[in-house]
Amino acid sequence: MTDAILTTTDLHKRFVTGSGLVGASTTIHAVNGVSLSVNKGETFAIVGESGCGKSTLARLLLRLLDPSEGQVVYDGQDLTKLPAAAMRKLRSQMQFIFQDPFSSLNPRMTVEAIVGEPLLIHTKLNRKQRREKVADLLRKVGLRPDYADRYPHEFSGGQRQRICVARALASGPKLLIGDEPVSALDVSVQAQIVNLLEDLKDDFGLTLIIIAHDLSVIRHMADRVAVMYLGEVVELATTEELFQSPRHPYTRALLTAIPVPMPGGRGPMAALGGDIPSPANPPAGCKFHTRCPHATDICKTTHPALDTNGKHQTACHHWQDLPAMGSDAVATAPRSAATEARFALYRDAASKAAAQ
Ligand code: SF4
Repeated sequence: MTDAILTTTDLHKRFVTGSGLVGASTTIHAVNGVSLSVNKGETFAIVGESGCGKSTLARLLLRLLDPSEGQVVYDGQDLTKLPAAAMRKLRSQMQFIFQDPFSSLNPRMTVEAIVGEPLLIHTKLNRKQRREKVADLLRKVGLRPDYADRYPHEFSGGQRQRICVARALASGPKLLIGDEPVSALDVSVQAQIVNLLEDLKDDFGLTLIIIAHDLSVIRHMADRVAVMYLGEVVELATTEELFQSPRHPYTRALLTAIPVPMPGGRGPMAALGGDIPSPANPPAGCKFHTRCPHATDICKTTHPALDTNGKHQTACHHWQDLPAMGSDAVATAPRSAATEARFALYRDAASKAAAQ
């Protein structure tokens, strides 16, 4: 489990918006110099708040988006240089599960047509063989084979996500990337899908990359975690190390904010004040300094590089001087009304889930 299946080197993605005759354009730095390596057979998680660039990074990994700079190497091949035809061929090995199982399934196609589509594109199976394979895949994801004749609207959110997983598995992938694969689902269904992905990973010999905003989702399934803030990786470690000895103040805030499913419990990022700054105008120095309770003058002017020596990597000038987790003070800047409203909604949902 030590060979890299996927590596990125100094990967950047910039979006330019609003350019026109008037000349006012804005450049959004969605992904900024990300270098990481995912090993064969591991579950690698990428976590961070909404807007931190993790979903853009996931799309760059499969070249669903082209990078502005940098390299993505999959199984020895530089994806950024592959011609479109070669990339299409390789896609059968690299599949994506989207966040929203409602909009990612064509409502006019039956389950058989949806799950069988990759078989039609990537294999030479005849209709009968495809039907048998679809039935087999449905069984593997915990659905009845006779569901093949039904349409997506006849299923619950969890069942639809299982159909999405079956479709992703149909082409026999080696790498599966799930972009928030459970966040659109009820809390009670999330664990079922997480368990399903873990089981399938072993059965199919997959490498999993899971994108999540909530550390609690990946705690029991990921081998390693990269924490992203404003387009950069600020900490990377094994899951055990990250949960036991988090170094970066942002990671500590994420851990403090793990939702407590009880009335009045904490919601996501409840411990971290302020809003994520705009990626169109990121702060100078350490991008986290506007929210960090440990920021000093150097943090405002000098960008801390990710220390890539060793397995536990951190981008912070002061992590070695920080108090142990627990006595750590968290940012006290006031949160915006929109953030407060999000927290209120979440607390509501958590209270209802706890009451069920
Ligand atoms: Fe906080 Fe400074 Fe570390 Fe950034 S470099 S996380 S501002 S202490």
